[in-house]
Amino acid sequence: MTLTCPRDGAQLQAATDHAVPYQRCPTCKGGWFDLHEFEELEATAADSDAIAGTIEYAERESTLKCPSCGKPLAAFDYRGENLELDACDAEHGFWLDAGAAERVRVRMRERVQDLKRAATAERSWNAERARGFQRTLIERLRNIFSGK
Ligand SMILES: [Zn+2]
Ligand SMILES: [Zn+2]
Repeated sequence: MTLTCPRDGAQLQAATDHAVPYQRCPTCKGGWFDLHEFEELEATAADSDAIAGTIEYAERESTLKCPSCGKPLAAFDYRGENLELDACDAEHGFWLDAGAAERVRVRMRERVQDLKRAATAERSWNAERARGFQRTLIERLRNIFSGK
């Protein structure tokens, strides 16, 4: 099936961005990513599954229509940033204007760094408790193997 650009109606063409396949508009350079492709796009910058699927929706009406089903897309700010993406409510995909994919990638890298800092703080905060948990776990395993 041939998809057309929701901005200018040009035929989208198969393309890749950092090895992530998507449909690219030759005119406005925007891109249509299905859900899986969008996750891959985020994953090219992230090394943690924990941050996937946490896009913050502050929806408003979009002037664009879904290339797949023709219904109006919903516009939202990507993760609370001043970066507008458009998504199909029927989960057909995401429309990213030219340059938006790179900004998503940059934002994801920053988010990963934030999470790493937070994780380091949490690790030291909970270090004693974590050691206690490990001991308990080892004791439980010992009991299993000794048949108690
Ligand atoms: Zn276009
Ligand atoms: Zn759709």
